Amino acid sequence: MASDELYNFVFKVVLIGESGVGKSNILSRFTKNEFNHDSRTTIGVEFSTRTVHLDNYTIKAQIWDTAGLERYRAITSATVWSPSPLRYYRGAVGALLVYDISKHLTYESADRWLKELFDHADPHIVVMLVGNKRDLESLRTVPTEEGKDFAEKRGLMFMETSALDSTNVEDAFNEVLIAIHKKVA
Ligand code: GDP
Ligand code: MG
Repeated sequence: MASDELYNFVFKVVLIGESGVGKSNILSRFTKNEFNHDSRTTIGVEFSTRTVHLDNYTIKAQIWDTAGLERYRAITSATVWSPSPLRYYRGAVGALLVYDISKHLTYESADRWLKELFDHADPHIVVMLVGNKRDLESLRTVPTEEGKDFAEKRGLMFMETSALDSTNVEDAFNEVLIAIHKKVA
């Protein structure tokens, strides 16, 4: 049996945030160490997994990507729900709420994503606010402090990442998994 078949916990973590912020690339960087320069709407695969070894336990992270949920959300009224978002959030114990540090609008929508998350997910879910595309420093429109303050006010964890150059992608997932483990253990 492959060693990654042995684990103590399976944690479902969802990726949320506007289209184009880099959710699918954060996921592919974490699960396959791959980056894709083409921007494509995510279709098909619902989640990817990666097994991580932390201290003396092993966690299988099942990470869900939106599969076009952002678009769905954009075109429907906030009060109408299809089974698809329900399925997406069901059983999630962690969430990465991603924005693009070079696009302030994607940061401004964070509160709406939080509302959607807490409308559907367990109130004890561990949430990290993630400012992605940290490599685009010259195009930055969201100062680090702004993201950090927002996260602090709402009791979220916070990290800036780059799926392009790998900065903090691993750390972001690991911190969230450790925080989830602390809650359930
Ligand atoms: P999603 O719609 O949130 O899933 O975003 P994608 O992962 O599809 O990424 C959207 C676009 O942003 C693609 O062209 C990616 O190559 C690009 N991208 C994703 N992450 C980064 C990053 O960390 N830095 C830079 N410079 N571009 C990124
Ligand atoms: Mg995507």
